[in-house]
Amino acid sequence: MSQMGKLQEFRILPKSVDEYIPVVGEERINRLKEIAKPLRGKKVLNINATAYGGGVAELLKTQIAIMQDLGLQVDWNVLTAPPEFYDVTKLFHNTMQGDLKKATDEQKQIYLETVEANAKSLVENYDFVVIHDPQPLAMINYMTAPTGKWIWRCHIDTSTPNEDTWNFLYPYMQNYDAVIFTLEEFVKEGAKLNNLTFIPPSIDPLSPKNSYMAETEVNNLMRNFNVDPDRPLMCQVSRFDPWKDPLGVIDVYRNIKSNQMKNNISGLQLALIGGMANDDPEGWSIYDKVLRKAGEDYDLNIYTNFHNVGDIGVKAFQYASDVILQKSLKEGFGLTVSEALWKGTPVIGGNVGGIKIQIKDGENGFLVNNIQEATEKTTYLLQHPAEAKKMGEAGREIVREQFLCIREIEDHLKLFNKLSQ
Ligand code: UDP
Repeated sequence: MSQMGKLQEFRILPKSVDEYIPVVGEERINRLKEIAKPLRGKKVLNINATAYGGGVAELLKTQIAIMQDLGLQVDWNVLTAPPEFYDVTKLFHNTMQGDLKKATDEQKQIYLETVEANAKSLVENYDFVVIHDPQPLAMINYMTAPTGKWIWRCHIDTSTPNEDTWNFLYPYMQNYDAVIFTLEEFVKEGAKLNNLTFIPPSIDPLSPKNSYMAETEVNNLMRNFNVDPDRPLMCQVSRFDPWKDPLGVIDVYRNIKSNQMKNNISGLQLALIGGMANDDPEGWSIYDKVLRKAGEDYDLNIYTNFHNVGDIGVKAFQYASDVILQKSLKEGFGLTVSEALWKGTPVIGGNVGGIKIQIKDGENGFLVNNIQEATEKTTYLLQHPAEAKKMGEAGREIVREQFLCIREIEDHLKLFNKLSQ
């Protein structure tokens, strides 16, 4: 049992960067090694809110492992906090994405006290401290003598933030030596931040979730999860979070299902795969809503990590699906989009945030603005499997070029080099 208010360390074993040569080519790996040379021996600390669930934990495992192989000493610490802290930080997450609620003074106090306690437990010196998302953001103010360069990495879609939360968090952002957002549109107009940098996230092509899986194994796993591999399947993989719009995905499925005969699609199935992240207290209530809406439709399967859908299960669903949806209403990036494209599956995504840079409309999937458009495009891809396959293949190449971990690590190392000057 961890001690509340004390940073908890997670160990990651190094991963050989040379293993990525067959995926991205020797030139890119050599370039990465060159960029890493001046940083050998530098100490880096990453701090975030959870070691399990959600995109940040996913990204960190790979980045830390590869940076270690490149010669940096990289640590990973996770906040420990009482449940009410996560209620506040989920509220920050939601309001930074545009929700209109307001945090009370008492909630802000809970946030600051927890962050302070965690900050006080950090005694080691680092060359670079990378703080992820709003949960540990204010830590910088509680370090008696912050050493090295401090970088805040925001992973969420802050294109239309709630003024109240932005105004509360903004002064902390200003204290950082550098701030990373995924997209320019996520930075509030007029914000003055040091070394503002834009870096899109990425996926690890060799992780258990993204490595190759043979069709027979995919089909076996699908049968295990009560999905018929011989019938069409649409799927969304994401936390049970209102911004991911799982209820909208059910509407899309029902729209198509009710017109199956007319559209020449038969036996359509939907899978909603949604892990419960440790730092997301809203998950279960959204899950309940989804179950209620799903009713007794046995072609609609809803699974969580509690049904044993781990990385391998997610991979199987991303391979098995004819279409993957990521019908988000706000989205920092959406790793699930690149994950599906990497498996050659086309994606229909909400026309928001980081999804817009991964989906080239009509090339590797479609960007949609509402349930009607999502219904039309999903129907189209289900009716045109050859075209869907081509789009999936195009998607894999777009991901290879732009959204693999080697590129993201390179971007981070370039920033470290810049800050070292
Ligand atoms: N994920 C998972 N199991 C699930 C749901 C999600 O492993 O049931 C993973 C998903 O594959 C992806 C990450 O969690 O790697 C979610 O990242 P994304 O950027 O899509 O969204 P976030 O949760 O960070 O908002």
